[in-house]
Amino acid sequence: MSTTVPTLTTPSLFREQAYLNGAWASASNGATIPVENPATREVIGHVPNLDDATVQSAITAAHAAFPAWSKTLPRERSNLMRKWHSLMLKHAEDLATLLTLEQGKPLSESRTEIAYAASFIEWFAEEGPRIAGEIPTSTKPGQRMLVLRQSVGVAAAITPWNFPSAMVTRKIAPAIAAGCPVLLKPAELTPFSALALAALAEEAGIPKGVFSVLTGDSARIGPAFTGDARIRKLSFTGSTRVGKLLASASADNLKRLSLELGGNAPFIVFNDANLEDAANALMACKFRNAGQTCVCANRVLVEDGVYDKFLSVFAPKVAALKLGSGLEAGVTIGPLITKLAQEKVNRLTSDAEKKGAKRETSASPSAPDLPGYFCAPAIYTDADAKMDMFHEEIFGPIAPLTRFKGEEEAVKLANATPYGLASYVFTNDHKRIWRVAEGLEYGMVGVNEGYVSNPVAPFGGVKESGYGREGSIHGIDEYLEYKYVCLGGIA
Ligand code: ADP
Repeated sequence: MSTTVPTLTTPSLFREQAYLNGAWASASNGATIPVENPATREVIGHVPNLDDATVQSAITAAHAAFPAWSKTLPRERSNLMRKWHSLMLKHAEDLATLLTLEQGKPLSESRTEIAYAASFIEWFAEEGPRIAGEIPTSTKPGQRMLVLRQSVGVAAAITPWNFPSAMVTRKIAPAIAAGCPVLLKPAELTPFSALALAALAEEAGIPKGVFSVLTGDSARIGPAFTGDARIRKLSFTGSTRVGKLLASASADNLKRLSLELGGNAPFIVFNDANLEDAANALMACKFRNAGQTCVCANRVLVEDGVYDKFLSVFAPKVAALKLGSGLEAGVTIGPLITKLAQEKVNRLTSDAEKKGAKRETSASPSAPDLPGYFCAPAIYTDADAKMDMFHEEIFGPIAPLTRFKGEEEAVKLANATPYGLASYVFTNDHKRIWRVAEGLEYGMVGVNEGYVSNPVAPFGGVKESGYGREGSIHGIDEYLEYKYVCLGGIA
């Protein structure tokens, strides 16, 4: 495939080198990995496939940066982060273009992601100066007690390809604000957004070693992170399979972990819901990023009394989606990320068809005349728990509708999964809202709302969707330790 170099207003945001200890670097053996545009399958550029020795030297540099960075006044760290945030906003259009080129989502969604990504830098620039300890009252005479909040140490982050900018800032911003140097390994499929963030961090004056971007093979960099006791914290977003691997590999040195893993979100529509609102919310919740988000509705559970009516409101909206290259005006749904992703969706839909589900959206848009990994959006009716798509994350633009009768069955069906990330419920009964929100075994519940992500709210899951929270006033806790200081002999 031919190579296309992106056209940017500021071409220096497109970096084909890793950013290590404040310098741009290649692998010592010159090895690289090609990065493809999923809409065209053209190679956009290459990034270094870093060798072991270079990875080790980046960890050593981060470790060396820790004492000074953790002692830098939070306000000073915050000021640098504010500069970084302003630079992201200034270059938002270039960042969005790069994001669409390597990830495929429509440019309008990339613009939204860049604003969302920048908001984490802004939020944690504000939270950093608010880090504060506690003074409990002792139960013993002559004692005084203090609880300090201290930086955990060097942090590492491993991020996925579905939000190449926002998943990065959601981890690195709280780490940096808390005084932890951070080593980032972005997804091999989408490293350019992360490298552009590093270019802006450099311009903002973030000191060397405080933020590094290591590109290359996860099978090499993952174990280098988990096996190194100098890295005290690892934050990962990705599949439950890899999350479990990282947790077990981190057990040896008991590294602290935050794991944001897969989901299997139920989207419950009750008889008394506003169906137009529910259908509009489902469009965003299901088809954003071509269905490739861990909070996407994976199972649409519709109460018997409105099942047919809901389908008639929802189906025309799906048929109106426009599939194509994310850079083309009017396109509302881009390609899937890889051929493997396309094959997974095909496997799940043929399994569902074999087991009795019906494909409903005959007017669904056909794939454009491009060699990318396109997948036409569709609704499947009569989906049930026998089908693989009821249990696996679809990660594609397929909406399976399942019929239920009554609140109890809805909650039971919704919870019938090992995952517990996001869930959604549509109803106008205020008592039911409480009962169902409390009964759902999920880290997040959208009530009459299909888009819950927000930098001020704690994002994260329960069960096999992982642990730890990102964003909100709690996000920075993941990068802080408590230290209890007990003073005795105070008469
Ligand atoms: P997905 O299936 O959505 O691609 P993955 O969990 O495979 O999710 O990937 C998420 C991130 O984890 C990516 O940055 C990927 O490179 C990284 N990754 C994949 N396998 C491993 C591994 N064995 N160790 C460390 N990181 C890994």
